[in-house]
Amino acid sequence: MTKRVLLARPRGYCAGVDRAVATVEKALEAHGAPVYVRKQIVHNRHVVDTLESRGVVFVDDTDEVPAGAIVVFSAHGVSPAVHEQAAARGLRTIDATCPLVTKVHQEVKRFARDGYDILLIGHQGHEEVEGTAGEAPQHVQLVDGPEAVDSVAVRDPSRVVWLSQTTLSVDETLHTVARLRQRFPELADPPSDDICYATQNRQVAVKAMAAECDLVLVVGSRNSSNSVRLVEVALDAGARSAHLVDYPQEIDPRWLDGVQTVGLSSGASVPELLVQQILDYLAGRGFAEVQEIVTAEEKLVFSLPRELKRSFGGVSSARPSLDAQPQQPDGERETGGNRHGGKSIDQRGANGERGGD
Ligand code: SF4
Repeated sequence: MTKRVLLARPRGYCAGVDRAVATVEKALEAHGAPVYVRKQIVHNRHVVDTLESRGVVFVDDTDEVPAGAIVVFSAHGVSPAVHEQAAARGLRTIDATCPLVTKVHQEVKRFARDGYDILLIGHQGHEEVEGTAGEAPQHVQLVDGPEAVDSVAVRDPSRVVWLSQTTLSVDETLHTVARLRQRFPELADPPSDDICYATQNRQVAVKAMAAECDLVLVVGSRNSSNSVRLVEVALDAGARSAHLVDYPQEIDPRWLDGVQTVGLSSGASVPELLVQQILDYLAGRGFAEVQEIVTAEEKLVFSLPRELKRSFGGVSSARPSLDAQPQQPDGERETGGNRHGGKSIDQRGANGERGGD
């Protein structure tokens, strides 16, 4: 039997990540280095290392940013308290929060205003959850998985709603919601899905191929929630084994012993060039046949933050003029987009689009 790779699609960059990385690149271009970024702009080592090499300084909090300097808030969002701290120090802020995270912030504000207890399903300590809960800390309780349901206490069981982090496992979240509903039968649902389109699409694509795979490799960093979830989804859906890697050097050759079919995907913060490096590694070990498993097409592009649009006098899309390119027809993917003298992070998504962890 021929050794083969099943390549999940959609994979890689989502519209929110694309916008966040483009925002930092545009800020560097407009204002020069250093540009400060609070937390990792997206949860990917390669992206962070590349931006650092161009003069971006990543900090844990705004009090590390010199007064009057520019600071970009990451795609994961920040609480109102962080905005206030930055304003109090006279920092010039650019907010690269993904619009789909902002949508959940708005839901928290609305339900808090209406007197609800908000049960926020998400992972303790994740930056997105800290920012979202910070919109109404008196109303929000974190529910970190089904096991946490028993310890939830609410003021009025008829005014309870669940919301969620955007990058969770769909299946595990539904399991948590079912447990919550057993305890609180009048539990209200979010107005629309909080788990974002990109997280859902990548999980569906991995599920579609996992049962055929002896091994699934997910390209992504360990602090990338949606990437870690893809490994779990692959195992739940029948893959014999699954691992998360940032680079080909992290692949243990023993993982390939006796393997005929490798499934490959990447998290929403992963540039396509890293997937191509894994494909090259696998081709060198006899996995030359590559078959894409396509479960959805993604066309979403977000506008740049308005603070940045002002700097650029009318740029209206996250697709910077420097590398504006037509949508590629299916199957004609272009990778390795180069906007900075050969040093650009590969921004293009897996589907020939600039898509935003
Ligand atoms: S994974 Fe979803 S919520 Fe996170 S940046 Fe991408 S599109 Fe936005």
